Amino acid sequence: MSGWAQSKPLDMDKFNLNNLIRENIKDLKPYSSARDEYASLGSEMVFLDANENPNSNGVNRYPDPHQRSLKSILAKQKNVEESQILVGNGSDEILDLLFRTFCEPKKDNIISLPPTYGMYKVLAGINAIENREVLLNLEFQPDIETIISKVDSDSKLLFLCSPNNPTGNLIDTKKIEDLLIRFQGLVIIDEAYIDFSKTNSWVNKLSMYPNLVVTQTLSKAYGMAGIRLGMCFASEAIIDLLKKIKPPYNVNELTQKQAVNGVLDIAKVTNQVTEILTERQNLKEALREIPFIQNIYNSEANFLLVKVDDADMRYNQLLEQQIVIRNRSKQPLCDNTLRFTIGTPEENIKLIKALKVIK
Ligand SMILES: *Cc1c(COP(=O)(O)O)cnc(C)c1O
Repeated sequence: MSGWAQSKPLDMDKFNLNNLIRENIKDLKPYSSARDEYASLGSEMVFLDANENPNSNGVNRYPDPHQRSLKSILAKQKNVEESQILVGNGSDEILDLLFRTFCEPKKDNIISLPPTYGMYKVLAGINAIENREVLLNLEFQPDIETIISKVDSDSKLLFLCSPNNPTGNLIDTKKIEDLLIRFQGLVIIDEAYIDFSKTNSWVNKLSMYPNLVVTQTLSKAYGMAGIRLGMCFASEAIIDLLKKIKPPYNVNELTQKQAVNGVLDIAKVTNQVTEILTERQNLKEALREIPFIQNIYNSEANFLLVKVDDADMRYNQLLEQQIVIRNRSKQPLCDNTLRFTIGTPEENIKLIKALKVIK
């Protein structure tokens, strides 16, 4: 793709990870289980160290705290080192680990760009961190100069969601590059919907930007929201810090097994994504015929955001027909918008039928 920076940006020489870390985390030693050192020696070992029930049932042992099997597959697929990967109990856990590693409560701040994913704000609230909001512009792109004017030495994290939820668009490559170069904290690119987009992941650019953190998830394209598996890709230095504070057994045995099977079955994911993208196009065409739908925003994700005449009324009318969608009207720049997740072909037909009978 075009527009990638050709050389290491000059400003990055100023980046100093050490300056971003909370003092109490700097000196912390992670919890270590005695099992760690022996896990690779094989099943002939006798494990009497962790007070587990010795009777095998598939889950009687604690899970691998390093998730080695899953990471070895992910490392090959994403073309990164295993040491550049952290997996968590959903991306939500990973985002929380980022706050707790880098943001000092009641002192530091983060930058987020509404309308966007609600968890950045929620996590800022939970962790007592100021959330400096800079609205996206009318094209749903970042306003770089305003962002930079809001930054100070306590600005630790900048959240970019691309493709963005709820708007569905990608953030421009050039804008992201600018922010990576000019923002001296960590830039987190939330790629929950990247598998629905034709664009390259920013994971490919980790070696160029020491302040880049990319998060992805098995909750959307991979069809495994129920197992709770989020992924974080960053420099080994950043990953090592997050590992210090992650709960040792944050990804359970059943999740690790199912995640391994899920990421190995690429063909299934690709087929389902293809079907969802076809369905998105079909739905889009059908929505154009609905008189009260005034705008259908371009989407690189598995949902469509639309502008309607009266979102509350249309939401309730669909609910009466047993169709639950998301009313995003309370988000800035999203007056009278509704978000439709792309369902199965049958579900999408039901949605279209329901929209057609509404007066
Ligand atoms: C759905 C979604 C996630 C997924 O979070 P998980 O905890 O991994 O399920 C992350 N970010 C965005 C923007 C999302 O829409």
